[in-house]
Amino acid sequence: MTSLLRFPALNALFSTPAAALIPALFGALLGPSLALAQEKVLNVYSARHYQTDEQLYGEFTRQTGVRINRIELGDEPLLERMKSEGDKSPADVVLLVDATRLFRAQKDGLFQPVESKVLTERIPAEFRARDNTWFGFSSRARVIVYNKASVDPKDVQTYESLADPKNKGKVCTRSGSHPYNLSLFGAMIEHVGLEQTEAWLKGIVANEARSPKGGDTDQIKAVASGECGIALSNTYYWVRVMRSDKPADQEVVSKVAMVWPNQSTTGAHMNLAGGAVARYAPNRATATQFLEYLASDRAQAYFANGNNEWPTVNTAETGNQALEALGTFKADKIPTDRMAARSVDAQMLLDKVGFK
Ligand code: FE
Repeated sequence: MTSLLRFPALNALFSTPAAALIPALFGALLGPSLALAQEKVLNVYSARHYQTDEQLYGEFTRQTGVRINRIELGDEPLLERMKSEGDKSPADVVLLVDATRLFRAQKDGLFQPVESKVLTERIPAEFRARDNTWFGFSSRARVIVYNKASVDPKDVQTYESLADPKNKGKVCTRSGSHPYNLSLFGAMIEHVGLEQTEAWLKGIVANEARSPKGGDTDQIKAVASGECGIALSNTYYWVRVMRSDKPADQEVVSKVAMVWPNQSTTGAHMNLAGGAVARYAPNRATATQFLEYLASDRAQAYFANGNNEWPTVNTAETGNQALEALGTFKADKIPTDRMAARSVDAQMLLDKVGFK
């Protein structure tokens, strides 16, 4: 205002009622389109939806001014949508669950490599693709759960023990073809080769208590009910049941115990949830910026805590007491992209041995 006051003529011009309409008129004509041009929007296709999402996305918007437009779908529908959109896809960032799914999406040409020192320095090599097409932002272990009344923990200390004849009729699994299992079986192929993995899978089929069905939580419940003695589960499903205050869940927790598998050999099998920049991202630079944000300590805590997982970035802390209550363990350090690439071989073996 001070500068205007020095020029009385200008001041007089802006104070006339007719002149005051001029900016308003321009605003009406140009305002909306200008506002749109100025508002930066990032389209995030996500297969993850948790309570911490508002904090996770809100903080990025506060830091950068970029609004996040979330398209939330299940993993498979999300990938189908991207494929059908082709090079017209508005997707900038893609968030998926499981290394095998990330591997498949990358093979289908849905991602592009990202050059980012922040990402390669902060995310350990075993939790990202070697060609920098995807990055893991949270990790989970695939563990063994057993019925405390019917199973001796000594008999279920390793993945290999699932095929041990002494566990005949006790093993329950979800479908072998589910990515969580394909990733585990792929890791086994990396460790012991095709032949031994085939024999192992055959042994599991021979030990089945029932034909594979349901999800991980269903396996935990079936173990609690005594329908099965032993099952596999991702850690966050077990923690979810543990944290539940529903009497039915507490009843489940009282009957079931968890084992960190393969602690004297390869370590517990690890998997991840991760993200990538979409192949045809309209906002490539901002998409990379968003992935880098996901690797920050604070975003890591939101991302991991939303699903009771561990951050992949070593300096990040969640303060998740339920997770910490599980204790420390030896993790399998096999690169997730290598085991995921083996999921194709794993599926071939499942078909061969009749693992449904
Ligand atoms: Fe899951």
